[in-house]
Amino acid sequence: MEKIEQIQKWLAENKGDFALISDPMTIQYLTGFYSDPIERVLMLVVFKHQDPFIFAPALEVEAIKDTGWTNPVYGYLDHENPWKMIADQISVREVDEKEIAIEKANLPVDRLEALQAQFPASSFSLNLTPELEKMRLIKSADEIEKLKIAGKWADFAFQKGFEAARIGVSEQQVAADLEYALKGEGIMQMSFDTLVQAGAHAAEPHGATGANKIQNNELVLFDLGTVWDGYISDASRTVAIGKPDDKSLDIYKVCLEAQLTAQAAAKPGMKASDLDKIARDVIDKAGYGEYFIHRLGHGMGMSEHEFPSIMEGNDMLLQPGMCFSIEPGIYIPGVAGVRIEDCVYITENGAEPFTHTSKELTVVD
Ligand code: MN
Ligand code: MN
Repeated sequence: MEKIEQIQKWLAENKGDFALISDPMTIQYLTGFYSDPIERVLMLVVFKHQDPFIFAPALEVEAIKDTGWTNPVYGYLDHENPWKMIADQISVREVDEKEIAIEKANLPVDRLEALQAQFPASSFSLNLTPELEKMRLIKSADEIEKLKIAGKWADFAFQKGFEAARIGVSEQQVAADLEYALKGEGIMQMSFDTLVQAGAHAAEPHGATGANKIQNNELVLFDLGTVWDGYISDASRTVAIGKPDDKSLDIYKVCLEAQLTAQAAAKPGMKASDLDKIARDVIDKAGYGEYFIHRLGHGMGMSEHEFPSIMEGNDMLLQPGMCFSIEPGIYIPGVAGVRIEDCVYITENGAEPFTHTSKELTVVD
């Protein structure tokens, strides 16, 4: 309820009467309950001065109560009109309906129109998205515990992936083997499509895992993550099969130095842009600057699309509880690609990683 109270306080400060929240991840963040009802309607309604309620498909009601939600929850059947039922529940509470807050980043236009039809005299201009982004920027101790467990399973996945990566085995087979091992342990969801890229294929940082077979004397890049209780991991390692050529080994060495230098330097009070520059300078100095073609890192937590963004131009100061990736990469088209990534959380003294798989070049043959 602490997070919901923060929304209530925000409503009071911003002259909002109530907030209509239907993004499944936001509802999970605020209540602990997660379900993606697809086209059905799941709505959390938070009032300034009254208890919130959840409106959900009838088939979800028991699961919501099971999470310990003690405020009202109302179910609807598929043939009923959810928008009218939500409006009816709000009107019996006799609250002001002048200013309604919505998540502008996560409310489809057809849903906004359905709500506007129920509240024709209300304004929907108050945007809750920036406040939620601000709240999600700093993780609580409980959230960091979940991120640590997700990180532990990413380490497990690397171990299984490295065992599977052999000459003649396809990238797809390696990805399948490591995900199969995770499922056997009860980890059913990856945070994004597992990336296994061998040799020159790894020089396409947004390429996909393919039918490409691993050959001797090349690097293989892994980028993967798991989901634990709504929180993700995201980590990359690049390993060697046999003896890769000198160029590949050199870019590995430089990328590793950039990653280690940045991870050791990250601390509260530092600008996000300065951290990016620390890694970039290492790669520039070695002559590979033009091949480091993305920001150093991104915020993460429930998703990989959170703040802070670790890049040039972002002068946000790092603070304890911020979580983000440190992932320099060097991609030389036609030759090889290397990325080394740990996600970290900022403490009073520095940065602690969620993943602990060795970053020294591992030879897996
Ligand atoms: Mn990644
Ligand atoms: Mn990442």
